[in-house]
Amino acid sequence: MTVDPLSFRWLLPVILLASLTLVSSEKAAFTIELTTENFNQTLSGIPSSAFALIEFFAPWCPHCQRFKPQYEKVAALFNTEPRTTPDIMVFNVDCVAQGELCTRYDVKAYPAILFGPPKSFETNGQGAQKLNNANTADDVMKFINNRLGQNFVLSTDTTYGNTYNSLGEQLKPLENLTASMQVSLADVEKATVLSYEYMFSSKLLVPHNRRAFVQWTTLLANNHPVPRCRAGCRHLLSSLEEVWPERNSSGSPPPGPLPALQRWRVCGRHRTDGDWQGCKGSAPTTRGYSCGLWSLFHTLSASAEESEADAGFKWMQGVKAFVGTFFTCQVCNTHFMAMASTADAARVSTRKDAVLWMWQAHNQVNLRLAKEEAATDTGDPAFPKMQWPSPASCPPCRTTEVLHMDQASQDGADWNMDAMYEYLLWYYGEGKRPAGVALPARDPRPGPAVAVAAGHPRWGGAGQVSHVLLMAASGVGLVVCAYVWLRSMRNSLAKNKKGLLPP
Ligand SMILES: Cc1cc2nc3c(=O)[nH]c(=O)nc-3n(C[C@H](O)[C@H](O)[C@H](O)COP(=O)(O)OP(=O)(O)OC[C@H]3O[C@@H](n4cnc5c(N)ncnc54)[C@H](O)[C@@H]3O)c2cc1C
Repeated sequence: MTVDPLSFRWLLPVILLASLTLVSSEKAAFTIELTTENFNQTLSGIPSSAFALIEFFAPWCPHCQRFKPQYEKVAALFNTEPRTTPDIMVFNVDCVAQGELCTRYDVKAYPAILFGPPKSFETNGQGAQKLNNANTADDVMKFINNRLGQNFVLSTDTTYGNTYNSLGEQLKPLENLTASMQVSLADVEKATVLSYEYMFSSKLLVPHNRRAFVQWTTLLANNHPVPRCRAGCRHLLSSLEEVWPERNSSGSPPPGPLPALQRWRVCGRHRTDGDWQGCKGSAPTTRGYSCGLWSLFHTLSASAEESEADAGFKWMQGVKAFVGTFFTCQVCNTHFMAMASTADAARVSTRKDAVLWMWQAHNQVNLRLAKEEAATDTGDPAFPKMQWPSPASCPPCRTTEVLHMDQASQDGADWNMDAMYEYLLWYYGEGKRPAGVALPARDPRPGPAVAVAAGHPRWGGAGQVSHVLLMAASGVGLVVCAYVWLRSMRNSLAKNKKGLLPP
């Protein structure tokens, strides 16, 4: 396989446009779904030197269902970094939902696969080449290689695509998790991508840290709330021997990962440039990554498997591996690892243990930082550290009444642990909004909960602000129009009175 390490900037609009469907669905991790709305624009965004592979399928067709994981293997090769040369984008079209597209491309049997440069799809696909009777990923690869005179190969790791990673640990099916939490998933994804970027740019990827790297990636591969991040981490695990072999051929440990690992992007392609949402500070130097990491840790705990007796233990292993080895904020690392080495931490076994432990640990840090920030006049004044959640955000979470708001930043609160667990599952996981809990935007207290709501698409955030501005602008426009109309009426009446206008 020839690999072009250069960045493919043209991919940004193509992926953003086409992945709108992908992000919101659990259908496929690597294949990009095309719809009537995004088809033309997506194809026209692909440069003429690249190729598109499009599978037209029907969800009810049993052969399509069997073929789906095979097609995903092909997508996993071509729709990820580093890009191949020539570049190939792998798409699919659901012919039940997008019947018009399938008629346009004269699809008579499922699955139908078309392949060609973007231009070949302009005349209803007549210029594209057709692959019939594909059963396996190898059939598709052979077809592509024959057409292009290439020798692209699928990952040689036979564990890819099944439920075991390179350590032989069992992974959950990708479809298991859905994301409906309050926290900003864009922040969670950005923190994930940055966690790898910072690892890659550090000098910490040395042989004795390989296990910690695998533990962190395994946790993300299992629990990440964003499907493509889970898929990306699985792909990384299954290809790890190729990019970071455990031993070199002579049997001695190699110096570290190969340069190819530096180009890995587990998910969120092109997303790290965007602004933080819930984690946006009031200055560029505040909040951001460390806030994103907390959000990631909390969502990873809330996404752990409830029925697994040791899901919390595994979560703890992954988080400790990452913070202890790769979180290079020294003071954060030292404090966190001290908390993670206590007897309380050792008792973490289930999901509930993990979710509550993480919340308490975070509150301990908040308590310490509230004092430090007050004493040193640091931190982000718009987001004062407090015992989270505030009494207003979750009334059932506390058993004692907090009489003054100031008390919310003290450690005197008595918590109702069951209510707290329910609240955390709602905020960071798939849980329902607990009774008695108001929507975050209604929290009267300035600070984190309100900030998260302001940036959260569900509560409007920027969209709501622009909506209000639009309404205000429309109102002003109406007043101006009315004024102009009244003035012209008055003038005409005046002119009429003067006999300047015809009757
Ligand atoms: C593991 C770790 C250890 C750290 N240790 C230190 C340290 O020792 N010294 C230091 O100066 N900085 C430390 N930091 C950074 C610090 O904790 C904050 O992340 C940073 O100051 C930014 O604060 P923030 O206002 O964005 O809120 P953050 O504390 O980053 O919290 C992010 C969001 O999580 C939610 N939240 C707050 N508390 C809780 C809770 N208890 N449970 C669930 N959700 C909650 C809120 O919505 C909040 O906006 C650490 C960060 C991490 C990830």
